Amino acid sequence: MSTLLKVENLRKAFKVSANRPGAAKQSLRAVDGVSFEIKSGETLGLVGESGCGKSTTGKLLLRLIEPDSGTIQFNCRDVAGMGHRELTAIRRDMQMIFQDPYSSLNPRMRVGEIIGEPLVVHTLAKGRAIKEQVLALMQKVGLAPEHYDRYPHEFSGGQRQRIGIARTLAVQPRLIVADEPVSALDLSIQAQIVNLLKDLQEEFGLTYLFISHDLGIIEHVCDRVAVMYLGRIVEIATAEQLYHQPCHPYTEALLNAVPIPDPQRVREHQILSGEIPSPINPPTGCHFHPRCPYAQEICRKEYPALADHAKGHQSACHFSDEVGRFRQSRS
Ligand code: SF4
Repeated sequence: MSTLLKVENLRKAFKVSANRPGAAKQSLRAVDGVSFEIKSGETLGLVGESGCGKSTTGKLLLRLIEPDSGTIQFNCRDVAGMGHRELTAIRRDMQMIFQDPYSSLNPRMRVGEIIGEPLVVHTLAKGRAIKEQVLALMQKVGLAPEHYDRYPHEFSGGQRQRIGIARTLAVQPRLIVADEPVSALDLSIQAQIVNLLKDLQEEFGLTYLFISHDLGIIEHVCDRVAVMYLGRIVEIATAEQLYHQPCHPYTEALLNAVPIPDPQRVREHQILSGEIPSPINPPTGCHFHPRCPYAQEICRKEYPALADHAKGHQSACHFSDEVGRFRQSRS
């Protein structure tokens, strides 16, 4: 598989007001040197606690937020350096599905208009062909033809997400950034939408960046997974490697927090404790050290670089090679 998206050293900081009147604004490093690749047809999961920078990363890729620095190569083209016209054109290939389908749908437009709008904007269809294509898209995502003239408020959350997906598909994108696409939905509906996204990937050869805080969902959807903590990627591996042999203590703690649907089984290891530190003033050394059960003196002083642990498995921990042994000695 060829590389479709390559991101290197992406950074974004926001200026935020200080909590004292008259004090200078502070810098919140939301995305702090993120690098990863996604191959064509692959699904990369981006996971981490709320506020870790994963949604900001997704928006930076499409330049819905402007990066401070770093490169974004999409299909060997430099997205970060594109002008307005080039960017509008490439957004046909790079689309986003949002967490809250209701707020991303115009309540005054009918479903047919909402799904057909991108066809008009990108001049992909005219006249009667627009309605024909919209009806075909509605069928693909499991909406009935009688839904064409209805308004978004007449639908359930799952149906609204189907409308959002149909609108995204209208421009035949290659990459979809799905930002928490099922987290606002009931559990039974989540499974339907996840299955729909997988079916569409197979049919249209789509590539996904799937952003979620839920490692349970990520396991079902993703080929590889990147774990973010305080704006940085701390572990990246195949789903198989990450779920069976995590080598960063933060990943291990996140996995321990995933509920087991079996009352006979109990967690063997400690659940992640403590608050996520402020990205305005992150801890020295390894940012995870105040919450890490394996922290040692070096962890308070030196930030560990993301380094190869095994083939295709990278981790930013001074003790990546020993995390498995620590785990066994604690159990
Ligand atoms: Fe824990 Fe140290 Fe590894 Fe950071 S570098 S995750 S504190 S063991």
